[in-house]
Amino acid sequence: MTRAFNFCAGPAAMPDEVLRQAQEELLNWQGRGMSVMEISHRGSDFEQLAAEAEADLRELMAIPAHYKVLFLAGGARGQFAMLPLNLLGDNRQADYINSGFWGNYAIQEAHRYCDVNVAADGISSNYTEIPAYETWRLNPKAAYVHYTPNETINGLEFHWLPDTGKVPLVADMSSYILSKTIDVTQYGVIYASAQKNIGPAGLSIVIIREDLLSRASPLTPSIFNYTIQAENNSFANTPPTYAWYLSGLVFKWLKRQGGPEAMAKVNQRKAEKLYQVLDNSALYISPVAKNSRSRMNVVFQFKRPELEALFLQEAEANCLTYLKGHKAVGGIRASIYNGVPETSVDALVKFMQYFEHTHA
Ligand code: PMP
Repeated sequence: MTRAFNFCAGPAAMPDEVLRQAQEELLNWQGRGMSVMEISHRGSDFEQLAAEAEADLRELMAIPAHYKVLFLAGGARGQFAMLPLNLLGDNRQADYINSGFWGNYAIQEAHRYCDVNVAADGISSNYTEIPAYETWRLNPKAAYVHYTPNETINGLEFHWLPDTGKVPLVADMSSYILSKTIDVTQYGVIYASAQKNIGPAGLSIVIIREDLLSRASPLTPSIFNYTIQAENNSFANTPPTYAWYLSGLVFKWLKRQGGPEAMAKVNQRKAEKLYQVLDNSALYISPVAKNSRSRMNVVFQFKRPELEALFLQEAEANCLTYLKGHKAVGGIRASIYNGVPETSVDALVKFMQYFEHTHA
């Protein structure tokens, strides 16, 4: 069976090696005569699996001991609510950066819990460029500053680290985590849903500096309370065990690849191959400012928009799947996370060149 060239924005392509291992272990995990899905999360064997996945993630990201790592259900959108519930304490004010679709989504959810100061907004570029730091109007009294280092839908990426002074920086790294080396110590909280750069849906990772715990509103549901989950090693309720297991396999795979530093080189190369086609094309246009181009989600449009449907149709016929852009922005989007092999990008490059040659 040939595997499709999968450019899905999430749930996204996972490494073949990982899927094969999961397949081999499916019916009989570690000689137990059952799947890892079928064992108790309270047993020492699952606890060991869970601890090992955390240790591998800590190693991959060099997460210092004074940060807790949580494995939670509820996806990144769940975190849009959990964050203000857990971080505000007595403060009512929080700063948010509106850099695109997901930054805006986080803002809409936060409005329910606090006074949101939109400290910067990419609206003047129609969210095709990350708002320059000089335009940011941060509130020094804010409980935290929230931003989205990679805007999955708009195809934008921060290539710089915002300076928020003493106010903790919070990042939605759903489509950014593990794509390169990240200095965790610069952040108060990092969170990410797993279904892009890690693998399976159903799990989100929260990395939180310990001094930011114990601030939760009394109304916070217990299973969404970071402190309670930290005290219970994320076992305050039944965690998404199979997604945890698969994430653990992906962490081991990432370690074998050389970790985020090695992935960054591959990711840079993959993205450059696509942007080079766009920059040398009479047919395709990249709407994103060069200083804000995402390495994970490459979006583009057509100078002759009537060709878009044909492009998608022919791509699909060549096993190049999930290239349709999100309906909020239209066009084409190739998501090229860690799990997307360079051979998929090469196949897309070849197809784009063929398509331009045929239809120019
Ligand atoms: N934030 C970002 C940056 C995303 O890309 C996504 C998913 N596309 C989300 C949040 C929402 O994630 P979930 O569906 O896991 O709630």
